[in-house]
Amino acid sequence: MSPQRRGVCLVIAAPSGAGKSSVTAGLLALEPNLTRSVSVTTRLPRPGERDGHDYFFRTPAEFDALAQSGGLLEWATVFGRSYGTPRDPVETALAAGRDVAFDIDWQGHNNLRSALPRDVVSVFILPPSLHALESRLRARGSDSPAEIDRRMAAARAEITHWHEFDHVIVNTALDDAIISVRAVLQAARLATHRQTSLPGFVATLIA
Ligand code: 5GP
Repeated sequence: MSPQRRGVCLVIAAPSGAGKSSVTAGLLALEPNLTRSVSVTTRLPRPGERDGHDYFFRTPAEFDALAQSGGLLEWATVFGRSYGTPRDPVETALAAGRDVAFDIDWQGHNNLRSALPRDVVSVFILPPSLHALESRLRARGSDSPAEIDRRMAAARAEITHWHEFDHVIVNTALDDAIISVRAVLQAARLATHRQTSLPGFVATLIA
């Protein structure tokens, strides 16, 4: 039998530059049943970012209207800009047994946990050192030195939230980090409460 189940909300959080996007991309390439939640933001696109793929880029007025109408599961202000998670795609995916990955910050994690307490499984990714984190931020090349300083300060603040997460992975080697996140996802899929067809299946075993 192949049991039906509810999808997993896999939150992957990290300070900017810890390698979160690479870990998430690697995991998505391995897991066809996993889709990425595309957030709405009021920040401007970076070079190469596409509307509807990396983010839904919206004006502050459009963002506020969406939040007020209940269209967002959670939202927060990060670096002075608004970021939020659209509600409908997530609820549809979970009900259909599809897993959703969230690249959100610690506030988003707390908010999403409140909104979907039975669905969230969270992973926090730490850089192997602060030096490695700064190198990764500089390698992007798209942010000004002042912006990098701001993101470094924000990274230290983000790291203080490590203990709020279910799992912590130190990203020393990308491939190992991807294997670890994948293991978390696979275990979460097997959680008893997510396997919605189990009561009926077990009833046939003990009848
Ligand atoms: P960036 O501007 O570098 O793409 O993202 C900045 C921060 O916003 C990151 O820490 C990212 O995880 C967070 N973020 C992205 N989308 C969301 C969202 O939908 N909700 C919340 N709370 N944070 C988000």
